[in-house]
Amino acid sequence: FQPWTDPAAKPLIEFRNVIKRFGDFTAVNDVSLGIYEREFFALLGPSGCGKTTLMRMVAGFDDPTTGDVLLAGQSVKGLPPYSRPVNMMFQSYALFPHMSVEKNIAFGLEMDRLPKGEIAARVEEMLKLVKLESFAKRKPHQLSGGQRQRVALARSLAKKPKVLLLDEPLGALDRKLREETQFELMDLQMTLGMTFLIVTHDQEEAMTVADRIAVMDHGKLIQVATPSEIYEQPISRYVADFIGDVNIIEGRVESAAPVVTIVSEAAGTRVEVNSDTAVNAGDTVYFAIRPEKIAISPDAPAETGVNALSGTVFDIGYLGDVSVFHVRLDGGRTIRATVANRHRLIDRPISWDDRVWLTWGRDSGVVLTR
Ligand code: ATP
Repeated sequence: FQPWTDPAAKPLIEFRNVIKRFGDFTAVNDVSLGIYEREFFALLGPSGCGKTTLMRMVAGFDDPTTGDVLLAGQSVKGLPPYSRPVNMMFQSYALFPHMSVEKNIAFGLEMDRLPKGEIAARVEEMLKLVKLESFAKRKPHQLSGGQRQRVALARSLAKKPKVLLLDEPLGALDRKLREETQFELMDLQMTLGMTFLIVTHDQEEAMTVADRIAVMDHGKLIQVATPSEIYEQPISRYVADFIGDVNIIEGRVESAAPVVTIVSEAAGTRVEVNSDTAVNAGDTVYFAIRPEKIAISPDAPAETGVNALSGTVFDIGYLGDVSVFHVRLDGGRTIRATVANRHRLIDRPISWDDRVWLTWGRDSGVVLTR
């Protein structure tokens, strides 16, 4: 399932050079993007980067200042929210407190004056979908947070929109419930064959649920790619840093592709990396490597001058599945290396204040120019 790789595929939602200004503040800055039918797409970025504004323009709560939003190839300019084939579920999924679960779910259908029998059937279908059949008569205050969240979901799906917009839908749930609900959402999206567009500032959430992620910064799309591409091949330090943990080693290019060689005086090593990043000798670049791709050992490697650093362990973070070793290099900077705890930890092979070597292979990081 990768419709975005098919040049003939037509996006279901399309942003064309969308700019949104509030006064002289630009909240969304020239966004062009296609989202496909059946795709689970995440807009990810820090608070204030314009994610929600972008989503609101699909829903019809905001209109672009310039540019266009299309649904199934048609511009939705001037189309009010209720006549768009989309539904938005909000951060604070306010249910009507005085109405039962089934009444809450039925509300939109009753506004649309669907026949009674049809409404009853749809409500039953939705209750089954979110596994709340036995809760139909309860009021929202008689439900747990997770159950309320599922009622809200059922309510947004009742009108069978083509697109479901989710604005930080799981923000109010605790971690365990949030993870469970992420899988339920994915399941639901697959079962219904719908397009889900989610706004989140939680990178793990985006990585878990989404087919593709758009990383945003200051109203701009910085990178649009699958979770693994975003993680393994970030296009900038900003993306590398926003998604997961990363070590950045700055240096000067000595020789270019296919093996980029970087001399880093600050870190005190030469870095050799298989990379097709377009660089020239003399350029300042950034070698970005994830902590789990660095091996840590008390023993010096055969070759100490390339892809190798030495330093002293000054902190060890034990996270259960992994341990994070914080190593201070002789020059003073810190590198983090993560080791999977495959066996029960009785005795640590490496401890605080130990001298260690950090090494990695030529395919273990990326060369960034910005
Ligand atoms: P968050 O995760 O905090 O919701 P976001 O990435 O969704 O952030 P937006 O809500 O899209 O961010 O807002 C982007 C920027 O536009 C913010 O700086 C916000 O203050 C500004 N903004 C949003 N709506 C309006 C408005 N109606 N009037 C003026 N400024 C606005």
